[in-house]
Amino acid sequence: MSSLMSQLLENAGAYLPNFREDRLIEAYNFAKTAHKGQKRKDGSKYVTHPLKAAIILTDLHVDEDTLVACLLHDVPEDTNFTLEDIEMAFGKKVGFLVNGITKLSKVHYRDNMEERQIESLKKLFIHCAQDPRIILIKLADRLHNMYTIDAIEKPQKRLRIAKETLEIYVPIANLLGIWDLKSELEDLCFKTISPDEYNNIEELAKESALKKKDVLIRTKKIVRKLLQKNGLNDFQIRGRKKSYYSIYKKMLNTGKTFQEIYDLIGLRVVLKNVGDCYHVLGVFHQNFTPKPGRLKDYIAIPKINGYQSIHTTVFGVDGTITEIQIRTKEMDLECTYGVAAHFFYTYKIRSGSVRKRMKNKSEWVQRILDIQRDMENNKEFLNQLKLDIFEDRIFVFSPKGDVVDLPKGSQVLDFAYLIHSEIGNKAVSAVVNGNNKNLSAELMSGDVIAIETSSDPNYGPKLNWLNIVKTSNAKNKIREFLKKQNRERIISEAIDLFENRISVLGFDRDYLNDSQKEWLASVFYKDSWETLMYALGEGSIDIQDLMRFLQEEKKLIGEMTDPENEHVYDHVLNRLPNALHPKKVYRVHFMIHCRNRVGLLRDVSIKLADLNINILRTNTWHSANAKVSTLEFYIEITDINQYDEIISVLSEIPDVIKIMRLQNAELSPLNPSVARTMPEL
Ligand code: MN
Repeated sequence: MSSLMSQLLENAGAYLPNFREDRLIEAYNFAKTAHKGQKRKDGSKYVTHPLKAAIILTDLHVDEDTLVACLLHDVPEDTNFTLEDIEMAFGKKVGFLVNGITKLSKVHYRDNMEERQIESLKKLFIHCAQDPRIILIKLADRLHNMYTIDAIEKPQKRLRIAKETLEIYVPIANLLGIWDLKSELEDLCFKTISPDEYNNIEELAKESALKKKDVLIRTKKIVRKLLQKNGLNDFQIRGRKKSYYSIYKKMLNTGKTFQEIYDLIGLRVVLKNVGDCYHVLGVFHQNFTPKPGRLKDYIAIPKINGYQSIHTTVFGVDGTITEIQIRTKEMDLECTYGVAAHFFYTYKIRSGSVRKRMKNKSEWVQRILDIQRDMENNKEFLNQLKLDIFEDRIFVFSPKGDVVDLPKGSQVLDFAYLIHSEIGNKAVSAVVNGNNKNLSAELMSGDVIAIETSSDPNYGPKLNWLNIVKTSNAKNKIREFLKKQNRERIISEAIDLFENRISVLGFDRDYLNDSQKEWLASVFYKDSWETLMYALGEGSIDIQDLMRFLQEEKKLIGEMTDPENEHVYDHVLNRLPNALHPKKVYRVHFMIHCRNRVGLLRDVSIKLADLNINILRTNTWHSANAKVSTLEFYIEITDINQYDEIISVLSEIPDVIKIMRLQNAELSPLNPSVARTMPEL
């Protein structure tokens, strides 16, 4: 048997008293046969890879099925043996775990991936893990690949793998609370991505470790004696190492030097129970001077992420600053194994309360959520995760391997719209896993989908597509398109109608220039010519009103540019409403055409104010040659006499040519119901 295999069996035996050694050996032999002739990039036999990954997993105290599945994890993907072969030999449970890993290998990370795709990749991980053991195997797999990354020749490829690890695997390990594995991955990525900085810090750390080696050994010895003298026997004392990447990040973030961050020693004391923890704290503070402000009791008050320990810093041996963490075995277990601890163990968290093993998916996902609740940088991801994980989602792939997550029941068209709205709009059919499918074919997790699009410029979404799609994203995009398309059709029909009617009235079809069109739109409270034509097309503005207005305008602009003609307003005044109901507030909209001069608007406003008239809104325009102006007023009046008075007062203002009342429901947006009760002119 290889020495690595002996190591695996030994490690497993140390924490799995009843494991079946022969089953592990059988799995190893299976993998060896399956991968026969295959070599790793570093020249070693392929089987050393799953074997070393399994050894990594023994550090997390995983169960027997997980170790067996890890030994077989690359078999279906890379050899002639199938998942069925594995199930036959090792049972459904192992098959389920291996299948989960094979699914994950479909995910391809590329450079310059969008944030959304990276989020999808992370979600996919959590999602596929109906069982967290699948993630643990995948993390161990990746850790071993990172150990051997130097064997990859192309620097570009090394860089891509390191970035993928940093962006996907490190956050997942962090999420699961497996801190040791996380910082190891991080350091390996750091080394690959920024070798100079890594080497620099490594050198400084080695130098410093050498300097502190003596004082660390003496400190451990002194502390051990002190604790024994105080009646404590069941304890462990360990030195602590900071990860290079965390030192580097701290240097960047705080601007401190390496020495300021690293020139101290760290100790961790692990004890049997909480009482002993406080006892040990007392021993430290009695024998060494504590550094003020550094005592943190996370046992009495755990961190929001659940972390428990007592932290203190003292001036230790030779005055060396010494950071101390004090915790129980259970707290230590949780810090080391993260979610694995919850999954594989039953243990006491405090006197009286026992944390049960978590077998159920929602239970451990909930636990991850609780642990991570307050980690700011993960908030967005977690909110999303929370929404998605309990809902049924499917994960599907583009031909390039990009992953997209969709609600269960989603169809080809939903996928097309998620890729890009233009791809959705032009989608004709799809090739799903090599088979032709129509747009309404339902998708399943793991499907690889290539959308076929039309190059016909007139091709676009149909109304019945709204019944096909499941996602609101696709629905909104289809509606948007139909609305836009509909609007364009309505506008073009309205322009036809408008031009027809003005030509019937004897105008040229292009009688209005662009600025006149905009002006006309603003008269009818529309922000553009298109909006006015749309209102005409869908019937909220009457073509008659437009024509009537234009005819009067033509008289004004065409015939009234001679300011000598002063009597045109008469015919408008003659058409004054005579049925205004007294004791009611009426809103009246009218326009005053006048010769352009400074102060005219002011004159009109003053007259109206003198009459105690409430002006709701005013507006001013000038004709093209700036000789004629139009003042628009929107006012409130209370009786008919008031109206007569207004007209007679305003008519007397010098330079007023004509007063015209407008009426149209569309023109009285402040109170359409009142406007509708107004009598016809
Ligand atoms: Mn592998």
